[in-house]
Amino acid sequence: MTTGDHLLRLWLILFVATGILSGIVTGYFKARKIQPRGFKWKTFRNEALVAVVTLAISGKILGGLTAWLKAQGWVAFQNAPAGWWMIALEYGLYFLLFDTYFYWLHRWMHKEPFYSWIHKLHHKSTSPNLLTTLSVNPLESIINGGFVPLFLTIFTVHDATLMLILPTNIFMGLYVHSGYEFMPRWWNRSWATKWFITATFHDQHHRYFNGNYGGYTTIWDRICGTIRPKFEADFEKLKDRVAAAPRTGPQPSSGIPMAPDLAE
Ligand SMILES: [Zn+2]
Ligand SMILES: [Zn+2]
Repeated sequence: MTTGDHLLRLWLILFVATGILSGIVTGYFKARKIQPRGFKWKTFRNEALVAVVTLAISGKILGGLTAWLKAQGWVAFQNAPAGWWMIALEYGLYFLLFDTYFYWLHRWMHKEPFYSWIHKLHHKSTSPNLLTTLSVNPLESIINGGFVPLFLTIFTVHDATLMLILPTNIFMGLYVHSGYEFMPRWWNRSWATKWFITATFHDQHHRYFNGNYGGYTTIWDRICGTIRPKFEADFEKLKDRVAAAPRTGPQPSSGIPMAPDLAE
């Protein structure tokens, strides 16, 4: 067999495999899209522009501030080895304190004139996507991002904790703005999990502008009564849609052609 035949066969296998895989993946994602018709290219383009400018400005300022605090000896780390429980304790402290800081400043940024001055730009997206995470006014980025140097100035934590804090910051932003709901139906029904934020929770904040102010948890919204009254009912509706969505990809040896995609 010539090399050409090998390549052709490989190409055909890859073509079919990619087709099946993308069918499964897009069907999976499509059923879980929180606002199926929410994506707009124009908004996405503006978000990209804002993200580049904001990253450049706030990165420089926050980086400079942290370097200065370190040089002054205000920010330092514990180098002594620590048990996992100590790292978990420090991480838990960061998680709850950041959530508190974010909730109250976020509520404050929803009041005029601060809303128009600072926060309105982030709310240009009524149906968030991953890029919405970075599409914020540089001042807002400095206010929110400034929590890490502030936390590190007040508490001397282990460097292992910092290694957890930084990815958490990025991951949580992307998670709540993903535009897709991956959590199971029982998430908001269980007392153990309902406190942890879901993408639908923050998506609704963008869609309706008021309520659901929390960044990592729903704790403060539940305490202060700022959670959207229909949040849990809407979450269930979304899960009904996932359950009703036809399966894409290969069906178990039925021999019947695949059902047309009726996910929306
Ligand atoms: Zn907001
Ligand atoms: Zn947001």
